[in-house]
Amino acid sequence: MHPEKPYRHRKIGDRTLTPETLMMSYGYDPGLSEGAVKLPLFQTSTFVFKSAEEGKAFFEMAHGVRQPSATEEPGLIYSRINNPNLQILEERLTLWDGAESGLAFSSGMAAISTTLLTYLKPGDTFVHSEPVYGGTEHLIDSVLPAFGITGEPFGIFPGSQTLEQAVAKARARGRLGMIFIETPANPTNDLVDIAACARLAREMGPDGSRPIVAVDNTFLGPLWQHPLECGADLVIYSLTKYVGGHSDLVAGGCLGPEPLIAPVRGMRTTLGTTADPHTAWLLVRSMETLKLRMTSAMKNARYVAEFLRDHPKVEQVHYLGFLEPDTEQGRIFATQCKGAGSTFSFDIKGGEAEAYEMLNHMHLARLAVSLGGTETLIQHPATMTHSDVPVERLNEMGVSPAMIRISVGIEHPDDVIADLKQALDHVHVGVRAK
Ligand SMILES: *Cc1c(COP(=O)(O)O)cnc(C)c1O
Repeated sequence: MHPEKPYRHRKIGDRTLTPETLMMSYGYDPGLSEGAVKLPLFQTSTFVFKSAEEGKAFFEMAHGVRQPSATEEPGLIYSRINNPNLQILEERLTLWDGAESGLAFSSGMAAISTTLLTYLKPGDTFVHSEPVYGGTEHLIDSVLPAFGITGEPFGIFPGSQTLEQAVAKARARGRLGMIFIETPANPTNDLVDIAACARLAREMGPDGSRPIVAVDNTFLGPLWQHPLECGADLVIYSLTKYVGGHSDLVAGGCLGPEPLIAPVRGMRTTLGTTADPHTAWLLVRSMETLKLRMTSAMKNARYVAEFLRDHPKVEQVHYLGFLEPDTEQGRIFATQCKGAGSTFSFDIKGGEAEAYEMLNHMHLARLAVSLGGTETLIQHPATMTHSDVPVERLNEMGVSPAMIRISVGIEHPDDVIADLKQALDHVHVGVRAK
């Protein structure tokens, strides 16, 4: 990467440009694309070398045999390894988190599984926060153990182990390779203290053998939470959600310092979990409006959360903006998060029947899993996204049959509220007065 190239300038005079500004231009040289103002789609699997010597040099750089000299760019080879759409996406993605390097993947699960398989080997253990995304849960519980890699969960709900207990148990079994955190947790919005995990990891291995701290930042990132600033080593995304933002693509990301990203890049090339050029092109286009969308959705979510909190048929709203500042969760929120985001859950009075009655009467909000799109989405975690998790475990975590998760979009908030209101009016089964 050559920071001195004009299209990688991040300053005008003394002023350092903000990521939202750089989203329109950073990393793209129109001179390389017939002057096109926008990055074209490089829908190609492979790239022509000018000479055999050039092909050799590009492979040497791609395989890390040598670093590019001051005048060289790592050359384009093959779209599983690199592609202009992929590279510009990755360069822009790093700006929000202040990361040195970034990688884009074919899905959030591709990012998570490729990263875990890079850093965890047979016999290794790791600890992870709980609850986590359903796909991650399946990887941890059903796939990794077959490779001799076992996890220990920790959480903040009654009956869960603490981080320290999980670490002790994991280390008794084998080398602790990773602390994997999802915060806020899906769907409860439980927060994990990233800085505390990073401190513990550093105390464990001052000799460099310490576990990698990786954070799934899908719910609040890349705008409202910056795990690398809190001391995490790697930040992981489902780019399908807020970054893609239009519910029209599936992709993932992993960011961090180049020495930690390089092995993940190598594993991605081997597993073939790279994002394709068209998806990368869509993401680059989406990122121009990322801040606008996330800001608008976050504002709307507060109105929606307040409406739900005050509604007599709603028991409780798990919205980060309602955390009491004098609680441990409130303290973590204040120090770690820059905003409350726009995805949260609430418990309707009653159970599954009442929740289903409401869901089946939504008009504007779509009944669908996923989140972070321009449109409001609503779903039932216990029987949809988290249906793999045993019922007793769900109950412990606070994921009851009465829980509904909403991802608030960028519609007019009064329209979303009108929709929720009429759907709640249809809920009759077993409702008590508030
Ligand atoms: C959706 C999601 C994932 C998985 O991402 P995909 O793009 O669907 O593979 C991982 N973690 C979290 C928190 C998610 O919401």
